[in-house]
Amino acid sequence: MQVFWRPASSIIRNISINHSLMSSDNMFFGQDVLNRVSFLRGDSEFIKAAYECPKSVFIPFIDGEALLDTVQNKLYLTSTDGNEEISNALKTFEPLYNTVEGRHLNSGINVIFLGLDEKKAGIVYKEIYKGIPYFGVDFRCTDQTIIKPEQIKSLRESYKSMSIMDIINITNREASLYSHAKMYVDWLSKYNFCPGCGSIIYPVQAGNKLLCGNEHKDQKCIVRDARVSNVSFPRTDTSIIIAITNSDFSKICLTRNKRALRDKNGKEMAMYTTVAGFIEPSETIETASAREIWEETGINCDASNVKMVFTQPWPYPVNLMIGCVGMVNFNNKNEMINIDHDKELLDAQWFDTAELVDAIAKYDADGFFVKFKDEMVIPSDSTVAFRLLKYVAERYIKK
Ligand SMILES: [Zn+2]
Repeated sequence: MQVFWRPASSIIRNISINHSLMSSDNMFFGQDVLNRVSFLRGDSEFIKAAYECPKSVFIPFIDGEALLDTVQNKLYLTSTDGNEEISNALKTFEPLYNTVEGRHLNSGINVIFLGLDEKKAGIVYKEIYKGIPYFGVDFRCTDQTIIKPEQIKSLRESYKSMSIMDIINITNREASLYSHAKMYVDWLSKYNFCPGCGSIIYPVQAGNKLLCGNEHKDQKCIVRDARVSNVSFPRTDTSIIIAITNSDFSKICLTRNKRALRDKNGKEMAMYTTVAGFIEPSETIETASAREIWEETGINCDASNVKMVFTQPWPYPVNLMIGCVGMVNFNNKNEMINIDHDKELLDAQWFDTAELVDAIAKYDADGFFVKFKDEMVIPSDSTVAFRLLKYVAERYIKK
């Protein structure tokens, strides 16, 4: 998997500034907006108070897609006071919470408690837990569900689904709320039957856990009967994105994927960037990075020379991107390139990092493409790949 297009928050291009870039707080989709108070998800008194608080904020989705507030060009958020259709649907749903009827295939809706925005006054629970409660709400209405499609007719007609470009243009706070809700929405919509026994499963703990609905105690279910049933919780798929360099950062290996990338005029671009892939079961971040580097480029990078520099949630659909730098010990063997193992790449080359420093300093961008050298381009500063390239360039300058 080659990843070139990972939005990051506004990145400072000035090559001399770097430390703030290493904070995951800064990461697009990764801002820590809410206190998740995860221990209160199963507290029905708290959830009821949060649900009924007039200041509570709901992030509506329709069939898994968030909605664009076209007037303000932002993620559409609302309260129970703000939208009558949503308010009525939530009233219909409230008695179905934690019941089999509450699953979206019956009710037509998934509702997820996300957390508290502690910066604003909202509810106060047990004198300690304060703030405005946030919920994700995904409408999946059909003629068979309790909430019918007609009940959200004007919501459907008044707001359009957010495209990826709409999402790139919202603030990091909104994008992070979107990512948080979206990953739960995706999970709850896809997991409808128990992987242990095939019975229906339904959400409990305000949409944060799925329970096997098999009530026949004499029928075995490895999920229901397990002491720790991990399959009942949301999943996160971890992937790695790696810049390949040498021990003094003076060289960088950039790769071009076989998948064609075109600019806005349809011209195929020679995009040179980092390598990326999924972490496989029972791999560490470091061993997965070393494997991915070797599989794609043939370069030997010892896992002990892989360093994680930052991470980013990536809601397409449920990923955590782990940004790493792999340092290769040059010995006339380790650095040899061979792109014939998994045949994912069209090309891979070692470049002088000095050339990259030049390109970043000049920053001659056209959309997502930044001029590198000759006909080659690197990804723009709206990507995590760029952050990794810049990280290497900065380390090289400091040496
Ligand atoms: Zn089961």
